[in-house]
Amino acid sequence: GGDTALLEVNNIEVIYNHVILVLKGVSLSVPKGGITALLGGNGAGKTTTLKAISSLLGSERGEVTKGSILYRGERVEGGAPAELVRKGVIQVMEGRHCFEHLTVEENLLTGAYTRRDGRAAIQSDLEMVYTYFPRLRERRKSQAGYTSGGEQQMVAMGRALMSRPEMILLDEPSMGLAPQLVEQIFQIVKAVNESEGVTFLLAEQNTNVALRYAHYGYILESGRIVMDGPAADLRENPDVKEFYLGMG
Ligand code: ATP
Repeated sequence: GGDTALLEVNNIEVIYNHVILVLKGVSLSVPKGGITALLGGNGAGKTTTLKAISSLLGSERGEVTKGSILYRGERVEGGAPAELVRKGVIQVMEGRHCFEHLTVEENLLTGAYTRRDGRAAIQSDLEMVYTYFPRLRERRKSQAGYTSGGEQQMVAMGRALMSRPEMILLDEPSMGLAPQLVEQIFQIVKAVNESEGVTFLLAEQNTNVALRYAHYGYILESGRIVMDGPAADLRENPDVKEFYLGMG
């Protein structure tokens, strides 16, 4: 990937319910075309950071009270969630969130709702998604609620791809999945990154797998970035090895 920052988070503070300070000055930079990992244990603030970026804190009674977030150089913090989607940023939430009563294919098609480029383009993107996720083609007529956790993660990612995003915020893709499936999901992230040029910012507790696929990593502890660097360096760092590489 290149090194132009697509997304810049500058020293943000996030407070829930006017009193609970969760992010205490987080800064990070996501280069266009890269895979950036946001790492850290349970409750470190990874999800909060992603939701701050995608303006999804409102429904959680959370607020960015300090700092700024820039997407392609424009300030976006505290805006409307739909606006960021229009700019090309889509979040895949932790826990998948499929429409359980719709089929796999119907779920994928809901991802194309903001597009204006017609049926043929949407059909060709559906093919693109099925190429990355052959399993979803097999399951396309199945009700999403009856598919496995891994398949639901694929549906959530596939639906995000259907909006032709420039950047995907991916929250804890490994959660609850068997190691082999985790590996498969990350291989797809890498393939989508390389072939479609989609930029990723992914939050992960599974440091080991994330640092094998990401280009750059940030480690979050209690609402602060305590370390960052190229993934290859972090993998070799003694502190990271001691405190994080056993996790996940
Ligand atoms: P996890 O892997 O558990 O999702 P995380 O690193 O994503 O961890 P967050 O979900 O961002 O962490 O949570 C960070 C802190 O903020 C936690 O202490 C959590 O209890 C608190 N928190 C999260 N959401 C809210 C909320 N809506 N109201 C108050 N506190 C919250």
